[in-house]
Amino acid sequence: MNEQDIFQKITDEFYWFHRHPELSYEEVETTKRLREDLAAAGIEVLDLPLKTGLVAKVGTGEAPFIALRCDIDGLPIQEESGLAYASEHAGRMHACGHDFHISAVLGSAYLLKAKERELRGTVYLIFQPAEEAPGGACKVMETGVLKDVQAIFGLHTSPLYDVGTLGIRSGAVTASVDKFTVTFHGKGTHAAHPERGIDPIVMAASFVTAAQSIVSRNIDPAHPGLVSITHIESGNTWNVIPESSWLEGTVRCLTAEDRKLIKKRIYELAEGQAASFGGHAELTWYAGPPATDNTPDWTDFAIEVAKEAELDVVPAPVNLAGEDFAYYQEEIPGVFVLVGTGKSPANHNPKFHVDPAALGPAARYMARLAVEAFARL
Ligand SMILES: [Zn+2]
Ligand SMILES: [Zn+2]
Repeated sequence: MNEQDIFQKITDEFYWFHRHPELSYEEVETTKRLREDLAAAGIEVLDLPLKTGLVAKVGTGEAPFIALRCDIDGLPIQEESGLAYASEHAGRMHACGHDFHISAVLGSAYLLKAKERELRGTVYLIFQPAEEAPGGACKVMETGVLKDVQAIFGLHTSPLYDVGTLGIRSGAVTASVDKFTVTFHGKGTHAAHPERGIDPIVMAASFVTAAQSIVSRNIDPAHPGLVSITHIESGNTWNVIPESSWLEGTVRCLTAEDRKLIKKRIYELAEGQAASFGGHAELTWYAGPPATDNTPDWTDFAIEVAKEAELDVVPAPVNLAGEDFAYYQEEIPGVFVLVGTGKSPANHNPKFHVDPAALGPAARYMARLAVEAFARL
């Protein structure tokens, strides 16, 4: 395939992937289609214990090893984009642009395959399942396939930028994502006799207010971070003070130190507030991915390569959403790049859309990162 055929092919594939979104860990048809697309181009797919998603390989089979990573899952959203190629699956949508990621990295695989004999190392192309649900990146890491990889590059659609613009910055571009639940145990009583019980709703209310002091009073004001309590339940009628109350929320921040401190303060405040009213609190913590961490030297490299490719580069904004590319970066240096896909409502919005014209430049850029990284290792 020449470049023009490749760009036509990945545009057609993008429409297909957009029409057929699948949820995290259910990306069966997506994986099957990808396998066929890769096999038709003579690209090797590795035999790994992954139920969905896959890793392909192009190059010499020897060091140095570079990885290009994309994610392949959609979201439980009813599409309202009005596009001619809108989702054919009710209640499911590629609303984060992972269909774009698949098609762009597929394009990189084709471009690299076309000059495989010139490659001075091996490129792993990771089509990762379940970015939107916990653990997709970990499933790929657990196979051990990336143990010798020296640098990894990932991309994400961005509705902030026009086609031809990349957002790149050193350090964190997305936040650590933790979830917590708290149950406040009190003592149920008649609403007319609060003195005979311990009110768990007062404990929860007090905690919700106190928790907002963590970011404003305990964290360096120059550090982005947040605590959001998003779901609260207690009681079932108007004249009974219930036995317990329950709530859940999330913590986002950019450094490991802040992450540790916010967790510690949430425990202290929940337990302290509960104790001050005579009850007790029971907490459960669910740690998600850490913040992404673009290494400075590879970030400079990624910016240089973008400029050589005549793409515009702007500093990516810091975003307190999460991204499980961060798990790879705990082990492997690398860069997570935002790719301008044209102005659109935000990712995860039912009207989110990307401009397919960004596919060619993204595919070419990712392939070029791999080729030029070899020259650097
Ligand atoms: Zn998303
Ligand atoms: Zn995403």
